[in-house]
Amino acid sequence: MPKKRVVEALHTPKPFERAVFVKDNQILSQIDGNQHHVHFDMKNIRGQKDVTIVHGHPIGTPLSNQDYNCLMTSPEFKSVIAYNKHGEYSKMTKKSPHINLCLFPVKDYEAAIIGMDNLLKRAIKLKKNCKGMTNAEILATEDGQKLTKFARKVLTRTNNLWANNEKAFGIKYNCNYSKLV
Ligand SMILES: [Zn+2]
Repeated sequence: MPKKRVVEALHTPKPFERAVFVKDNQILSQIDGNQHHVHFDMKNIRGQKDVTIVHGHPIGTPLSNQDYNCLMTSPEFKSVIAYNKHGEYSKMTKKSPHINLCLFPVKDYEAAIIGMDNLLKRAIKLKKNCKGMTNAEILATEDGQKLTKFARKVLTRTNNLWANNEKAFGIKYNCNYSKLV
């Protein structure tokens, strides 16, 4: 029940990222992170093969470049899945461990990473400026509306980056998020 475990963590009063490592339907380990990040601690899975990382993304972002890098640089991993709080997934499976870096659509890749980075920074800043307000109240403000618009652009770009460049990235990508924001 790795999905249940990570989605549960997104429904706590202070939602956080939880990661569960799974192999052949067996849970190998579980790591709890914070609101924005979970560190994929390798200590229980060194030397394993075909491990899937199942984790939650509290604001419902698609898989990030950190997720991608982790998948591709650790021989232990086969797939990585991010669930949003509705239990919908963004999922990548490694197809080719040898990536030809020349094939990277570098411009798109950089733009997507910078966009995600800016989005997180802006969200943290807005939250700080709106102390005591609920998320719904924050998003209803003028700055909140602007941030939502920006988020939609950034997240669509990231999702398209994976979906449109599977071969270049050496992955298979699927996402069934009903909305990106
Ligand atoms: Zn992630």
